[in-house]
Amino acid sequence: MSASSASEKLVDNFGREVTYVRISVTDRCDFRCVYCMSEDMTFVPRARILTLEELARIATAFVQLGVEKIRITGGEPLVRCNVVKLMADIANLDGLRELTLTTNGSQLTRMAGGLRAAGVRRLNISLDSLDPDLFRRITRTGKLAHVLQGIDAACAAGFDKIKINAVILKNRNHEEVLPLVEFAGSRGMDITFIEEMPLGAIEDHDRAEAYYSSDEIRRDIQTRYTLVPTTERTGGPARYCRVLETGTRIGFISPHSHNFCATCNRVRLTAEGRLLLCLGQEHSIDLRQVVRSHPGDIETLKEAIRQSMSIKPRGHDFNLTEKPIIFRHMNATGG
Ligand code: SAM
Ligand code: SF4
Repeated sequence: MSASSASEKLVDNFGREVTYVRISVTDRCDFRCVYCMSEDMTFVPRARILTLEELARIATAFVQLGVEKIRITGGEPLVRCNVVKLMADIANLDGLRELTLTTNGSQLTRMAGGLRAAGVRRLNISLDSLDPDLFRRITRTGKLAHVLQGIDAACAAGFDKIKINAVILKNRNHEEVLPLVEFAGSRGMDITFIEEMPLGAIEDHDRAEAYYSSDEIRRDIQTRYTLVPTTERTGGPARYCRVLETGTRIGFISPHSHNFCATCNRVRLTAEGRLLLCLGQEHSIDLRQVVRSHPGDIETLKEAIRQSMSIKPRGHDFNLTEKPIIFRHMNATGG
């Protein structure tokens, strides 16, 4: 069977249709961003990570169930061996409208062309600072020059759209907001600013103290640019404005100041095969167990996914002042 029939939609108990899956292909990463990981991380042993074949089978099941958009993420997805082959297999699934990738950009110089050829049309690249020292402090191991070269390579590879993502922390990189807007705007790229989410324990900073709201970011941008509100949505949690001077868009993902759960259309698959029904809750089912105990049986896999809709929670309960109630870090979440 190929594309889904009307009866195959994934609809949860709150009437929300799930059409978007974010698939984490690894929890490993060449960076150690201070808001995402602790410095000393233990990664999942390889035997517990889904194989590329298992990942492709699960993606196929989702597309047969009406999922139209898949984002490959991690960890850093481009450090997973043969990930481009997986992406080509997923891009060819009948019924999939869009395959996208979120990356830290470190591997794009060598991989951008292959990703475009594999069928990836849009990229999100994370970039929190244009200052090499500050970039190193935030990522702990990252080299800004590699990422900037990667962004240039991605521009040359001809993706339909490249968007920048930046997490902004007060007194760490909030002064980077304007340079980042200028960087993205001058290249015709949209940029999304993300409020830090309390996923996993980190030792670098107190998340409540480092909170810098979307409203503060917007105020900073308006000191130099004219923001025109727009009702445009891309089906995700971001709210957008257009920058009059550049014609590009700025998105705000504001889990604290503007909750976006009512229109949630997505689920996440961790690299271990746990299907997370909500970014900010622990409700999940174990799809690795399903694929490994029923090899080749896509109908059983689809039935497990259908059943999971009944436990998708209404929304997250993020609270910056309490200890994290979610112990998994963003790299293990498929952010
Ligand atoms: N490694 C890739 C990257 O950095 O783009 C993909 C995975 S990363 C987990 C996906 C996105 O999540 C990045 O844009 C990153 O900045 C964001 N992120 C990580 N930890 C976060 C947190 N605690 N709160 C908000 N966003 C976070
Ligand atoms: Fe790696 Fe992305 Fe997490 Fe940074 S945000 S540590 S690049 S997974």
